[in-house]
Amino acid sequence: MILLICFCFCTLSCDGSLVRYSKDTFDYFDTVTTVIGYEESEADFERVCGEIFSLLGEYHKLFDIYNSYANTENLCTLNSSDEPVRGDPKIIDLLEYAKEMYTLTDGKMNVAMGSVLSIWHEYRENGISLPALELLADAAERTDIDAVEIDKENLTVTLADGVKLDVGAIAKGYAAEMTAKMLEEKGITGYIINIGGNVRTVGTRPDGTKWAVGIESPFDDADEPCIAYLELSGESLVTSGSYQRYYEVDGKRYHHIIDPETLLPADQYVSVSVVCSDSVLADALSTALFVTEIEKGLSLVESLEEAEAMWVYPDGTKVTSSGFDKYVKN
Ligand code: AMP
Ligand code: MG
Repeated sequence: MILLICFCFCTLSCDGSLVRYSKDTFDYFDTVTTVIGYEESEADFERVCGEIFSLLGEYHKLFDIYNSYANTENLCTLNSSDEPVRGDPKIIDLLEYAKEMYTLTDGKMNVAMGSVLSIWHEYRENGISLPALELLADAAERTDIDAVEIDKENLTVTLADGVKLDVGAIAKGYAAEMTAKMLEEKGITGYIINIGGNVRTVGTRPDGTKWAVGIESPFDDADEPCIAYLELSGESLVTSGSYQRYYEVDGKRYHHIIDPETLLPADQYVSVSVVCSDSVLADALSTALFVTEIEKGLSLVESLEEAEAMWVYPDGTKVTSSGFDKYVKN
């Protein structure tokens, strides 16, 4: 779990009729998904969970870059072709958003970095050595976001110039956001969807109080599991951290968030958390801010009315954007 969710353990709402239920699954995005919701009966909760998991299952298959599935053109099949591939509208929508996020983050969050990220992925899986810089530099030649050509009219995507996609930086946020929107459109509130620490709250708790969501401590030896608790009602909280996925070579950790300039894991911070109403934006920003120097990152967050962020340094120092404190539970 990337974030710990630390909720008030009341099982009944104020009117006494709604019960708090929760359900975990490891079926999607190679991580734990937890759904928490208040319903009158377990059967009602199970029905809503069924709808949530069915949508997450769809996104999971579409955005998988490692496996292909029968009768599905997904990112894995897209990555293995340099011809126009008919893309599911959900893939086209995600890629269009990813391009916008590339521009917003000055190229720091780049889903066209698949060639570089797959090298790190392979070395991390083997867990023995580090990739040579020449290997990474050669792969970096094939990371031009403009080589991801989207034809909206014909619903096709072409990956030119040997570019490969890796949407790990935004896929969970996108899936969480779309699933939350599906609930909101049906008038369902009082839910939390947590995809591997990518948290999206849907409404408040049934008695109108906010959810208390904890940000996990990035330090192994921390006395407390959480470094802060935020009060949220409809917003999303996403954390990118160097402690989440890593391997060790000669006693040094090499994690999974790669600076597009150095092609190495960024080492300025140990975690960056973003809170805002849109979970895709929060996800894209948390990854981008992790590889961005603090002045530029702060000014980006301050320029966005809806987003707030907290950076945690290796020595435990925290920097927060100007409106972050309004979410912090005292
Ligand atoms: P997150 O946990 O949301 O910060 O996403 C991390 C994942 O995004 C990694 O496991 C990679 O798949 C991918 N990734 C790492 N660095 C970048 C980057 N600079 N731009 C885009 N995707 C990245
Ligand atoms: Mg992210």
